[in-house]
Amino acid sequence: MNNAPSGNAATDPADAENLNLFEIAHQQFERARPHVLHMRHGLIEFLKTPIRTVTVSFPVEMDDASVRNFTGYRVLHSQIRGPGKGGIRYDRHVSIDEVRALANWMTWKCALVDVPFGGAKGGVICNPKKLSEGELRRITRRFIADLGDNIGPHTDIPAPDLYTNDQTMAWIYDTYQGLHPRQNNLPVVTGKPVDLGGSPGRREATGRGCLEATKQLLSRGVVRDLESVSGARVAVQGFGNAGSVAARLFRDAGATVIAVSDSQGGILRDDGLELETALEFKSRHGTVVGLPGTRSITNNDLLTLECDILIPAATECQIRRDNAPQVRARLICEAANGPTTPEADDILFRAGIPVLPDIVTNAGGVTVSYFEWVQNIENEQWDLETVNEKLRRKMQAAVDNMVDSWLDLQTAAQQETTPDNEGEHTESEDGPPPQDRQTAEPIDLRTAALVIAIERVANVALERGIWP
Ligand code: NAD
Repeated sequence: MNNAPSGNAATDPADAENLNLFEIAHQQFERARPHVLHMRHGLIEFLKTPIRTVTVSFPVEMDDASVRNFTGYRVLHSQIRGPGKGGIRYDRHVSIDEVRALANWMTWKCALVDVPFGGAKGGVICNPKKLSEGELRRITRRFIADLGDNIGPHTDIPAPDLYTNDQTMAWIYDTYQGLHPRQNNLPVVTGKPVDLGGSPGRREATGRGCLEATKQLLSRGVVRDLESVSGARVAVQGFGNAGSVAARLFRDAGATVIAVSDSQGGILRDDGLELETALEFKSRHGTVVGLPGTRSITNNDLLTLECDILIPAATECQIRRDNAPQVRARLICEAANGPTTPEADDILFRAGIPVLPDIVTNAGGVTVSYFEWVQNIENEQWDLETVNEKLRRKMQAAVDNMVDSWLDLQTAAQQETTPDNEGEHTESEDGPPPQDRQTAEPIDLRTAALVIAIERVANVALERGIWP
């Protein structure tokens, strides 16, 4: 099966699930929109559409002296609440619609955790596994040079994403600094090495935020008979930055991580994996598959394992119409961006499996990126405890807001469907309504989170006034 989402809906056969990410982002938006109060007609198109899309095409000299042409994108979705913020990814499957969708989600994510940024994203079409460090450095420098002033400390601020890391961010800083001397350029990019203005805790922030968000969600009683991460059986798809850190932090919080995977497949051990050994094995062999003492499984096996918490931390459209009915987790926490399609969302909702959505679950990354940006502007460095405590509070607030919004939406929907329901069950009397309650349109946690985020962005747009 081809796991890559399509960049072009027109190539999908009519009966195939639409895996075009930009259209998926719009479908999610449309589900939330009817619940957004005071949405002015005409504002909707503006909120859905990126304000700037830049495509660059550039040559790079390869190690064998040949020259190859690369294409890169930077999409700025919104600057309503502040400068654009979002990662840069290097991947064969990068497409303009993927980058547009990711920029879109960044806007809602930043609004939800209440950091003063808009949404942006970037990517270069390349296969980083087949490129040397020197080639990656030259691609990065030329991409950033060609983006010119489309990025900047107060306009649009990149960060790491799929197959980019703190080294990539150091090259981005250095390139931008060379082109803009005599000013403090540290805030132009986040996720830098700590000795180059990076924030303590940024490398672990996405995984840590995932843990904090999950703990808070469970404490709100959203998953029946699962109140704590401690004792939970966890499966993690993707063993890179987000996935491997989340796996270790969940393990440290008392969970048993039974399975992890990467692009080549997965491994399972019912009694729990030794994660440090798995990491070491992956760094030597390029994959976790084959780790002694474990059973090899496919990525689809991992997604359909019986477990308490499933953490997709790899890439988009992994849980779809075709495999969602086989999912046997009790809770899905989306550390990756866009791992669940709208059709899968419906299937999981009907099955009573809550999905903690990506714009909440993985928001720890951008939250600590914001902390890094503030530290760079102030020429300060905070200690790890300060960063982690501030992150914990941001994640808890985001989850609480989302759950409160979800409960309000459920109550409102219930009142609409039963107008003469005086004296009947209300949420405040009997606790959270069950996830599997049937409503006309599913009101899931993703919709609830989006309602808050869209409302926040729309409010600021109207407060600022439509120019001129
Ligand atoms: P990464 O490059 O560090 O790791 C990606 C991992 O996923 C690798 O182990 C890779 O082998 C694996 N993988 C790739 N395709 C796969 C597939 N089809 N099946 C199973 N595994 C596969 O990337 P990352 O930074 O950890 O990002 C992972 C996800 O988390 C992405 O969706 C990214 O947008 C999201 N995210 C990352 C951050 C961050 O700070 N790094 C922040 C927010 C969201």
